[in-house]
Amino acid sequence: LKQLTDELLHDASSSLLFVANRPEVVMERGEGMLVWDTEGKKYLDFIGGWAVTCLGHSPKVITDALQQQSTQLVNVSPAYYNKPMIEFARMLTKLSGLERVFFGSTGAEANESAIKLARKYGTLRKGGAYEVITTTRSFHGRTMAMMAATGKPNWDKMFVPQLPGFVKVPFNDLDAMAQAINPNTCAILIEPVQGEGGVNEASIAYMQGLRKLCDEHGILLILDEIQTGLGRTGKMFAYEHYGIMPDVLTLAKGIGGGFPLSAMLAKEAYNLFEPGDQGGTYTGQPLGMAVGLAVVGEIIGRKLPERAAEQGAYLQAKLKEVQAKYGLTEIRGKGLLLAFDLPKPLGAELVSACMAAGLLINAPSPTAIRLMPAYIVTKAEIDEMIHILCKVMDQL
Ligand code: PLP
Repeated sequence: LKQLTDELLHDASSSLLFVANRPEVVMERGEGMLVWDTEGKKYLDFIGGWAVTCLGHSPKVITDALQQQSTQLVNVSPAYYNKPMIEFARMLTKLSGLERVFFGSTGAEANESAIKLARKYGTLRKGGAYEVITTTRSFHGRTMAMMAATGKPNWDKMFVPQLPGFVKVPFNDLDAMAQAINPNTCAILIEPVQGEGGVNEASIAYMQGLRKLCDEHGILLILDEIQTGLGRTGKMFAYEHYGIMPDVLTLAKGIGGGFPLSAMLAKEAYNLFEPGDQGGTYTGQPLGMAVGLAVVGEIIGRKLPERAAEQGAYLQAKLKEVQAKYGLTEIRGKGLLLAFDLPKPLGAELVSACMAAGLLINAPSPTAIRLMPAYIVTKAEIDEMIHILCKVMDQL
């Protein structure tokens, strides 16, 4: 097994384009909260496929939906409607209260759709306004437009020329946002809880203030709920914590439970595209739609947002029990999107030591650790995770 793994790792290093420092293991199988590598080593997964595998690894609802739909109809031209496409659109519009949906495959693609819609709105209704205001430390994806939208410091120096028309202001600062709005603004794009930025929660006053500013200036409030949506924060959508509605909403990650699937939803008033403006070979394809229907149906049917709230509260409480002992400077987040800060910049060391001990966690920065397990995580699995984490921190 070791020899097989070594061969795979050799082939990986000589054939894959280098984009990440990956650990020297090859993942092979997953079930529930667990994944196994090619040498049979077992890991408790508190990264959850990067907040994706919300129902756990290889859940029966997904394998059944794939099996059933793949024998019925895998793909048909996006020039035609198909049944699961229509059913899934109905499900999402009913769930969110937004009337229109466009399907994509990735989060960045959903955000691109939202920006295109906002710019079309600016062109048609706001005298050509095209500027979109985003926030520092945000993350919206890695396409060219989303690199311009994202608040990563180095990206505006590389990959030039950047797509113009994006302005960044500090997160959670309503005055800064109010000052940045000008006649050329068509939209604000924001994560209610910044995920990749280290789990930073917007305040209620800030989000309600943004809603007011957008109404006053006739600009679109686009919520990027790619990481927070579909129950992750303990509510179906994070905007429910704030008592507001977005004009446009983007979803991905959890919506497919591991299958590449995304959606952009919008109010009826912004049903502005004409044929040819927006589309894609894989938009609304039956296989993905069937998986989405099964995953979101399961999230609704099993009341999983409530479960995420309950298990998240338990996980926060367990972290608080050990907070003083390990000098964790802050514990934050909502539902099962949680983070804690380390007293020293040992994030990368902690991640790899936990991995060696059979636990997968993520460090979005050298001092922050992020946890985003599947909603099906049990209290016993949380206890086990805390046990491994503490054992590793004792030795760090
Ligand atoms: N927006 C947010 C908030 C995200 O967390 C991510 C991915 O981490 C994206 C957008 C990009 O999604 P994708 O990687 O599927 O393009």
